[in-house]
Formats: sequence, structure tokens, C-alpha cells
Amino acid sequence: MNMSKAIFVAGAVVLFAAALFFIFTGPYRPVAAVAPGIIDIHCHVAGIGAGGSGCFVSKELRANWRFGIYLRSFGVSEKELSEKGDMLLADRISELAAKSRYVEKVVLLALDGAVDAGGALDAARTQLCVPDEFVAAAAARHPNLLFGASVNPYRKDALERLVWAKKNGAVLVKWIPSIMAIDPADKKLVPFYRKLVELRLPLLTHAGQERAFPGTRDEFCDPDKLSLPLSLGVTVIAAHAAAGGSYAGERSTDRLARLMLKYPNLYADISSLTQLNKYGGLKEALTRPEFSGRLLYGSDFPYLNTGLVSPWYYGPALGPRRLLSVIRTANIWDRDVLLKQQLGTPAEVFARSRQVILKAARSGSGRDLMLRQRIKDELTRPAGFTHGPGGPGNGGPGMTASGDFK
Ligand SMILES: [Zn+2]
Repeated sequence: MNMSKAIFVAGAVVLFAAALFFIFTGPYRPVAAVAPGIIDIHCHVAGIGAGGSGCFVSKELRANWRFGIYLRSFGVSEKELSEKGDMLLADRISELAAKSRYVEKVVLLALDGAVDAGGALDAARTQLCVPDEFVAAAAARHPNLLFGASVNPYRKDALERLVWAKKNGAVLVKWIPSIMAIDPADKKLVPFYRKLVELRLPLLTHAGQERAFPGTRDEFCDPDKLSLPLSLGVTVIAAHAAAGGSYAGERSTDRLARLMLKYPNLYADISSLTQLNKYGGLKEALTRPEFSGRLLYGSDFPYLNTGLVSPWYYGPALGPRRLLSVIRTANIWDRDVLLKQQLGTPAEVFARSRQVILKAARSGSGRDLMLRQRIKDELTRPAGFTHGPGGPGNGGPGMTASGDFK
């Protein structure tokens, strides 16, 4: 860089900092310290079917411009996957998460496909499939990965699959109703919901409109459709606090907020709420009284690795000093945690994913005692965290409210 160019860049940086100072709006809530030992409740994995993983990507999605972005955001190439197998992705995720200061474990999410009238996988309508067996194997291989199962309730053997998932350590069941073609309000799903309650498996389900995949059925992500599982006692976690779009003229988030007042078994995760396409989502979730005590931390990895998320978009709320502290954080999970913390996400939100999973693991039927103990042991292993499941402690390393490391 020559001298005049350097002066120009320095000038631009100073101007930007000065501009931030003048338009500084401050965080959405008071900034509180965050402790390590966090569980990320929402982390994606995928695969192309290499190494016998059973993962599947439709021709349509492969041809879509998004496919290349997905692969890049996972930090792998198609060639690498073909050579080393899809498990490489899970290995990379585990490796990256292990380097995080704050996130101790991540729930890796399987994704079942669409199902035909006979209750079998409908490959023609399935865009992306990540089998339970693959994710269970990844979780068995890496202690910092937890098994997030996915079972399409229209499968003929859906209930057996739930039992299998629970036996193999599943901590929740994930749906994306819009691409799995599931109507959560369908009365035919009642036995499935009752099984979820019996097995104490929370349902993490996409809510709100999103165009992450081509050709989705957005009407199935209407939060109101969750009234059925909620009324049956299923612990439901609405992904992304249902940010995005509206149904019957009502904003999706407003519909979810109404349900929060009615059902204490309803939660929402804050994954992807700092994405550009959901701008304002985090502020709304953190400041609306209906969501108080109901939010869980999730990252929506690997979307963090795309241009959709950047601390720069939050300059006015962060101010120059906090912005710098987030930008300087190299680990992708730590950057996500710090960005959300510095914007005012309370410590209890970061601690709640662990609590909700533990609660579910604790209260299964007597028959599952050993499994519950296993999940409990797994969740309370001392490696790298300083507080119990009750909430963050005071003495451990962590980031203080001012943004400095203790
Ligand atoms: Zn997601």
C-alpha cells in the first residue's frame, strides 16, 4: 500500500469511528457478563452422501446458487467431501467448536426428508436429507456434539424412529415443516406428539417465513399451528423466534408472542436473529416482555460464516469499542456469542439451552433411567465450564459486562 492510500484508509476508519460515535444508539438491553459452558441448540450439518453417510442433496438444490455458499460456509469443498466422506463436516464442526471459549457443546441437527402417501421417504420432493444415523454417529464420535434427531411424523415407522433416536442419545427433534411438508396442526400427528411427551423430547421447529430453500411451503411454519403440540404438553422451541413474514395479516413474531402468554412450555431460540435478512429480530426478541424467560441461545451455524452476519451491521448499537472487541474475536462461535452478548442478550439466555435439555433428560420414564443418566453426565461433564446447570457462576473465566476478559 502506498502512502496516500494508507492515509485514505486511516482517514476512512477515523471517519467511520466518529460517525459511529454520533449515531450510537446503545445495546438493546444492559450488557451482562457471559460464562462458558454454553450449549448451542441450533447447529446444522449436511452432506452429499459421501462415505456412505446417507445424506442427500436434491439436483435442484445442487444446481441452486445457494449450494456453493453452503459448502463454503461449512469450510469444505465438494472434492474434499467426496474423498474423505461427509463425516469430515462433523469433524470440522467439532474441531471449531472445541476452540470456542464459551460454547462447550453444540446440538447437531439431522434433517429428515418429505414423505409420500405410503409413509416412505419421497426422494422426488426431498431437497436435503441428513439422516439420524449419521448425526447419532457424529455425536458418538465427538463428545462436544449432541444428537438433534429429525423424524418426519408422516413416516410409517415414525414412533419407532423416535424411540430409536432417544435410545441413541437424541436431546431433541428438529423439523423444518416448510420443506419436510409437515402440517404441525394436523390432528393425525397427535400420537407422534404424545410420544414426544412420553420420551421427553423437545421439538425444535422452524417458525416464520424464510426462503433458505427453493420451493418451500411457508404456510406450515405459521406459529399458530404449534397450538396443537403445545396443548398436548410438548416442549416446543420455535426457531429464530419466528422472525420473518406474516400469516393472515399478522406478523409471525406477534403470533408467537401471543402463544407465549398461553403456553409455558413454549420457548424460542435466538439463532439467526443477527442475520441481515432478520435485522431487528434480536432487538425485538430481547425487549418484548412475552419472550422474557423463554429464549435459548442458538447459532444457526454455518450461516454465521456467510455475509448474512457481520458485527459491522450493528455498529450503531455496539459503538466503536464493543464493535472492535467483537471483530477481533476469531472463533466463529465466540464471535456470535459476543455479538449477541454485547447487544444485550442476558446471561440466562445463554444458560437456558442446557437447562431445557437437562430438564427433558431428567424427567423421562423410569425405564430410561440409564440413558437419562448418560445424557446428564454428558451435559454436566466438567470439561471447560465453571457452573452447574442452575445458571452461570461468578468465579469462572468469562467476559465482563464492559467487554473485557476476566
Ligand atoms: Zn437453522
